[in-house]
Amino acid sequence: MFLNISDKTKNTIFLRSFRARLFIIILILGIVPCLIMRYGIVNGYENHAVEQRVNVVQNQLMIVANHLVSNNYLSNDRAVGSKSDTFDVIDAELETIANLYEGRVLIVNKNFKVVKDTYDLSVDKIIISEEVIRCFNGENISHYDSEHGYIEMTTPITDTNSSNNDIKGVMLTSISNDSIVGTMKVLSRKAVLVEALTLVVVLFLAFAASGLLTKPFKRVTNAIIEVRDGHRDEAISVTDYSETVHIVDAFNQMLAQMRAQEKSRQEFVSNVSHELKTPMASMKVLADSLLGEANVPAELYREFLVDIGKEIDRENQIITDLLSLVKMDKAVSAMNVSSISINEMTELVLKRLRPIARKKDVELVFESIRPVTAEVDEVKMMQIVTNLVENAIKYNKDHGSVKVTLDADYQYFTLEVADTGMGIPEEDFAHIYERFYRVDKSHSREIGGTGLGLAITKQAVLLHKGTIKVTSAENEGTTFVVKIPLNYIK
Ligand code: ADP
Repeated sequence: MFLNISDKTKNTIFLRSFRARLFIIILILGIVPCLIMRYGIVNGYENHAVEQRVNVVQNQLMIVANHLVSNNYLSNDRAVGSKSDTFDVIDAELETIANLYEGRVLIVNKNFKVVKDTYDLSVDKIIISEEVIRCFNGENISHYDSEHGYIEMTTPITDTNSSNNDIKGVMLTSISNDSIVGTMKVLSRKAVLVEALTLVVVLFLAFAASGLLTKPFKRVTNAIIEVRDGHRDEAISVTDYSETVHIVDAFNQMLAQMRAQEKSRQEFVSNVSHELKTPMASMKVLADSLLGEANVPAELYREFLVDIGKEIDRENQIITDLLSLVKMDKAVSAMNVSSISINEMTELVLKRLRPIARKKDVELVFESIRPVTAEVDEVKMMQIVTNLVENAIKYNKDHGSVKVTLDADYQYFTLEVADTGMGIPEEDFAHIYERFYRVDKSHSREIGGTGLGLAITKQAVLLHKGTIKVTSAENEGTTFVVKIPLNYIK
């Protein structure tokens, strides 16, 4: 049972090989014409040889037929002595033809009576066959029976002297086709020999050609293996076929993508380590300076511990943001979609952020052009609004303002967060969604930024199949516009 299965698998693997298929195709293309040619030549020869033989024999029989007529062979007095010599000559002619073609000649007179049989078996018998009757009507009939190995033909014995070419009798001849069969056998044998030779040559050619033609694909595989095993760094190139060029191009693109991903992963890891180490380093410095001094006043302890607490909060914030990002990176299945009122949700976010805004004396305004209900992941949507509004407050100037506008058409809703803050230089537009990217590092850290907020926001927007755009003028303000489909698209 197991043997069967593995044999079957082996067979399918063999047949699925491009080289094997190529080999079989070349083999068929080489052998089939050979077989057709043999069949054509042997069969063609047979038909031609039979036709020729019939013509030759018919000609000879016609000559004898003329003799028969001129010597009145078919008349009733054929046994009379004076003519018997002539008749013997004619009989000898007939015997010669019969012997020469290994056959038998019967002469039938008008009364369908056999007057001569070279086998002497049917003399005086009556033959009323279709062929004989048709021959009396002037038709020359020949019939080849390849199965039993003979050719049968009828030849009219015509009196050319009579006014209406009287048919005096019929010659019924059957001759052997042994010599034709013999030649055919020799031909066949030679053809089989040629076929065997061709098969050997075609086998060799098919093997060599299939190997040669599939070589570029092997080269592609080997190049990919070299890259996989790390023995090769640069892009691979196999230019033999346009097909290999396409495969290799696709592979090179994938490789470039993977390398870019790997680079960004490494950058991310080093950024994470750096970001996590910074608060730790601050805590260590604070702790060391406390430990290094004797008789530290209690107020200083308190002050330093408050600072240490702030660093712990920061560390905590980075870890929370990182976890959010990781969650966002997960597949779409992580989306928990429900239909919610975006107005209510935005109001709630603004309410939560109002105390921070108040600290900076930043005015928070919400304008809803129309009420919006949409199918979104509530937690992720809240994160989007929170991050944008929080940034708009954080990067605002004192006594500035933040305006949140909600609008919708029949397909999308748009959430606009416009502030009157410091703005973002245009060259930074492309980078602000990168992880840990900050326009002004020291300022951002100072006000508690992790550099992850917009990365999280963008990821969340993309999970909703939405878009996020920024416009900004330095020292005037920034506007983020988020556009999300009202109905969630999977
Ligand atoms: P952070 O946690 O540092 O705020 P974000 O990913 O949210 O990180 O933002 C990335 C950077 O983009 C910020 O450091 C800041 O420099 C800039 N930025 C974001 N929002 C605004 C805004 N509303 N006004 C000015 N700059 C902004």
